[in-house]
Amino acid sequence: MARVFVITGPSGVGKGTLIRGLMAREPRLELSVSATTRAPRPGEQDGVDYHFLSREEFDRRVAAGDFVEHADYAGRSYGTLRSELERRVRAGVPVVLEIEVQGARQVRAAMPEAVQVFIAPPSLDALRTRLVGRGTDDAEEVQRRLTVAGHELHAQPEFAHVVVNDRLEEALDRLTEIVTAELD
Ligand code: ADP
Ligand code: 5GP
Repeated sequence: MARVFVITGPSGVGKGTLIRGLMAREPRLELSVSATTRAPRPGEQDGVDYHFLSREEFDRRVAAGDFVEHADYAGRSYGTLRSELERRVRAGVPVVLEIEVQGARQVRAAMPEAVQVFIAPPSLDALRTRLVGRGTDDAEEVQRRLTVAGHELHAQPEFAHVVVNDRLEEALDRLTEIVTAELD
């Protein structure tokens, strides 16, 4: 059976970094490309990093029932399109979703068989350092994301798997172990 892997956790914790490493080690996996109303960052490509939608288009697709889950995060909307997930599940291809906590809860309700992994930071200070160091968000946006992170960290006990991303290689080993065990 095709598996769905949900990777969640606060912004800046290293989800994207860990998923890139995971996909290099486990080529059977495919990544679901999310939709968002946020503007592309320099270098981000439409259809590759995200499907970048206008607010009107996003809302129209919500009303049309096109999303498996969707949520507001730091003033923008994000969601997983059914078209990203269903064709892969039908084809037996294991798929990775990189989403925030509200979306992970919706997927848990709709697909309890999905494997959910929460990536946790070693501390809020380390999270701040990573968000600032990434250089993609201004000070106000970093603060918004840290405020959300405080709430998201309380959700940790809901998750079957928690991986602390302190040393990257160790976290990647742990995440790969979890995913490989489910696939084999
Ligand atoms: P997310 O996708 O969760 O928002 P990113 O993967 O973009 O997070 O990582 C945020 C920043 O933290 C990036 O600059 C990344 O290089 C860095 N980072 C990721 N993992 C670690 C780690 N274990 N230790 C130190 N820095 C890390
Ligand atoms: P960013 O703006 O940094 O790309 O993403 C902000 C947050 O939105 C991150 O926590 C990211 O995991 C989350 N996110 C990305 N795509 C989706 C999605 O399809 N659904 C939900 N619920 N969250 C998403």
